[in-house]
Amino acid sequence: MDVENRLVLYCEKPLRNKGRFPIPKRCFKLQGHSGSCADFGYLAHIDEAAAGVGRKIRRDATKTTGASWRSKDAGPNRIDRWAMLLSDSDLLGYDLDVEALSPGVQAKLRDKRATYDDCIEVAQKLAWHVYNMRGAPAPPPDIRDYLEQLFGSLGEEETACMICGEPLEFEDFARAVRGKAEIETAHANPRAHNADNVGFAHRICNIAQGPRTLDEFYAWMESVLRRVRRI
Ligand SMILES: [Zn+2]
Ligand SMILES: [Zn+2]
Repeated sequence: MDVENRLVLYCEKPLRNKGRFPIPKRCFKLQGHSGSCADFGYLAHIDEAAAGVGRKIRRDATKTTGASWRSKDAGPNRIDRWAMLLSDSDLLGYDLDVEALSPGVQAKLRDKRATYDDCIEVAQKLAWHVYNMRGAPAPPPDIRDYLEQLFGSLGEEETACMICGEPLEFEDFARAVRGKAEIETAHANPRAHNADNVGFAHRICNIAQGPRTLDEFYAWMESVLRRVRRI
């Protein structure tokens, strides 16, 4: 379902930014909310149910992907996505020498850039996808209302792997193959990080998609099957 509703009225009170790159952060709870201000308030219950899942959503929503291999050339591990909107010279002021990285790594990091608002919307959307998974805990009423206002009713469409279409199960988050999570955050277009473009996918499916858009990936798969199976 498309994001049809950007009319949710947030509290918007500024939050203290303890991060490395000082952009203005703000409260994304609803206006007039009780309790303290937060930009990830809608993850509170997921944190209680499975802390690792909440951490994963925060990390994937806001950070560039870490290097998947260990080498000097892999570049810096996990930078705020909004930092990659800054110029090379601004980043040098934050002790990040982009020009010293290989062109491939530079391009990879720039591909992951996103505004703070887009990152928050990605986290909200991922939370919504979690609650639509088989075996997921039911959200408390306030979080249900909040996410349904943003993305539509929960429980109507089951969250499936964005790439292969097989239903995902909440338990898959805990399952790991050689220390790697079975479920990853995926992008229909790997160069766009926003709520309309993200979902969850099997790790192996995500690896297979690689840097292609989903459309490119499916076209490639069809060409493979034509060659190999003469379909
Ligand atoms: Zn607030
Ligand atoms: Zn899959």
